[in-house]
Amino acid sequence: MAVPKKKTSQSRRNMRRAHDALPKSSYVECSNCGEVKRPHHLCTACGHYDGREVVAPRAESA
Ligand SMILES: [Zn+2]
Repeated sequence: MAVPKKKTSQSRRNMRRAHDALPKSSYVECSNCGEVKRPHHLCTACGHYDGREVVAPRAESA
């Protein structure tokens, strides 16, 4: 089995992991109610998409 000759230093290990962070999740404001929602997704607060109501809004937030 191939074995590393030298221990990976903290610095080199951390440099390798510099790009491991997950990307920030994107969001946009709903054009109808202003609530933050995911782009190209139905607004969970008011049920609108593309300027019209697609589903009835949830009772708890209405
Ligand atoms: Zn909305």
